Formats: sequence, C-alpha cells, structure tokens
Amino acid sequence: MVSSMEQRVAKAVTMTDVLAARRRIASHVLRSSLTPSMSLSSHTGHPILFKNEHQQLTGSFKLRGATNAVLSLSSEEQQRGVAAASTGNHGRALSHAALATGAKAIICMSSLVPTNKVEAIRALGAEARIVGKSQDDAQREVDRLVAEDGLIDIPPFDRAEIIAGQATLGLEIIEDAPELDAVLVPLSGGGLIAGVALAIKTVSPKTRIIGVSMERGAAMVACLAAGRPIEVDELETLADSLGGGIGLSNRYTFGMVRDLVDETILLTEREIAGAIVHAYVHEREVIEGAAAVGIGAILSGKFLAKGPTALVLSGRNIDMGVHAQLIAETHPALVGDA
Ligand SMILES: *Cc1c(COP(=O)(O)O)cnc(C)c1O
Repeated sequence: MVSSMEQRVAKAVTMTDVLAARRRIASHVLRSSLTPSMSLSSHTGHPILFKNEHQQLTGSFKLRGATNAVLSLSSEEQQRGVAAASTGNHGRALSHAALATGAKAIICMSSLVPTNKVEAIRALGAEARIVGKSQDDAQREVDRLVAEDGLIDIPPFDRAEIIAGQATLGLEIIEDAPELDAVLVPLSGGGLIAGVALAIKTVSPKTRIIGVSMERGAAMVACLAAGRPIEVDELETLADSLGGGIGLSNRYTFGMVRDLVDETILLTEREIAGAIVHAYVHEREVIEGAAAVGIGAILSGKFLAKGPTALVLSGRNIDMGVHAQLIAETHPALVGDA
C-alpha cells in the first residue's frame, strides 16, 4: 500500500535517474537506431529522422521502462513478483523484463482478451491470469495480489522508474542528433514523452517536444485543457496503444507533460491510417497506429518542420490482418487481387 504521504509528494524524476536507468537496462534492451526518412525529408525539405523503437525487443519502447522498474526492485521484491493489468505492449514488456531478470510476473486480464494476446504473454514466461469480464476486473485482481500477496504493481506510465527508463531513448536521440529543432512523440499516459522531454531538454533546451495523439479519446490532451486529471471516455481507434486514461490520482506524468511539452497535435483516424500505409509503402516499415502519429502529423500538415526533426516510431504490434487490410484498401496492386 502506498502511504498518503508518498501519494502527495512524488519525488521528481531527475537526469541522475535517467543515467542510472541507462546503465541498469543497457544489457537488456536494444539501443535502437536513428535513421533518415528519405520520403519525409524530401516532403518537408528538412532532415526527418526515425527513432526506430518499433525494432525494440517485444516490439515497443515499453521494454525500457518495464526493465528499469523490475531491476530497481530488491531481490526480495522480485521474488514476491510484479503484476499488471495490461495485455498490450506494457504487459509484454513486463513479462519479458521479469523473465530476463528472474522476477515473477502475473499479468491479469479479462476473459474477453483474445487468445493470441494471452498466448503472447505466456510465451514470454509470465503467468496470464484470467479474471472477470473487464479491464476493471483485471485491475481489481492486481490490487488484490498487491494487498494480499505482496506483489508490486508496475503501472504502464505513472511511476518514476518507468519514466526514467523511457527517457533513455530520448538521451540516445539527442546524442545521435544534437541539433534537433523538434521531436514528435506519441502521447497517451505520458510516460514516454515525459521521459523524452526531460532527457532532451536537459541536453538541448531549445529543442521543441511535440505530443501527438488521436482525436478519439486523447486523455492527456483533455486533462491539460481541464488543468487537472479528469475522466475521459475511451473510444475505439487505430492507435489502440494510445487509449485509456491518465489516472485521477496521477502523480508524475500530468505535471511533467504540462511543464515540459511545447505543443500537442490530434489526428483523425484517416490520418493515422494514411501514416501506417505511408510507413509501409515508402519506408518498408510495419508500424502500429500509435507509432505512426508523428508521420501523420507531418503528412497532414498539422506539424510544419522548420529544421531537423526526429519522430519516435514507438511500436510495431499491430494486428497483421488490420495492417493487410489498410494496404489492400489503398494499394490493391501491392497485395495481388485482394
Ligand atoms: C504505450 C505506448 C505509447 C504511449 O506511451 P505513454 O507513455 O503511455 O504516453 C505510444 N506508442 C506505443 C506503441 C505504446 O505502446
């Protein structure tokens, strides 16, 4: 149980935490490449660079934060185990991090979660516990494991070690490209952008950090407008990894995003679909909707490059049926007589 004192005064995430995270996770994660996008550089007339985190182990950057969080626990805590209610990229990352470090992991999910997602978690060596019929039921089981069995709840974004872990990719970006005008970062709960903004602005204060979300259910953007964490309806979207709220008792990411992020951009479903297709057709990259939003921001004209710009391609865990359909709809010749 978190004490009320601890809840009120969250210790700020610092650059020291980021450097410690980098050392801690170095042997467990990929240092992804930063490569020029030929198509977008010629489209904008400025160097556009991809941070290729879709090539990260487990298919998303979430491995960085999850690995840092698990490695920051004492060995006694690692033996008690970690728990989470995510079946998406965080669940995969946490399972992988636990397996790599010898910690126990229980990923809770409802009976409505598709078998392939359950199997993906089991294949990584974690226990997939099926409880109830909703995400809330799954979270209640996590709360029970924490209260009764002493497991550690590792949330997907609102924890200092998670933010510091994600920040390591920001550090890599600014090391590889010191003269960036802007960095476009997919934005959901804000762990990724908070970490990236902290790392990049520490080294290069004038580099602008831009958050990109979908119009359908952009929780952080709604909270920023309201000036505090509020409840936001979750809607179906192609950028499914960007869905969900930021938590009404948000401790870290809301304040960091408010203070460090320069601007936010929202995309339509059409613009996200166009960006996924562009990445495939023009860059030969399979990326998920959440990862495509930086490309969408440029192609839609909602972001105007004024100098060298980096885009975080955050993941590639898209349903391949959905991906094939998007390509078939726009480029029938690429998929034969589909
Ligand atoms: C989780 C996730 C994001 C958003 O990260 P936050 O820290 O929640 O803002 C973006 N892209 C992908 C692929 C993700 O899995």
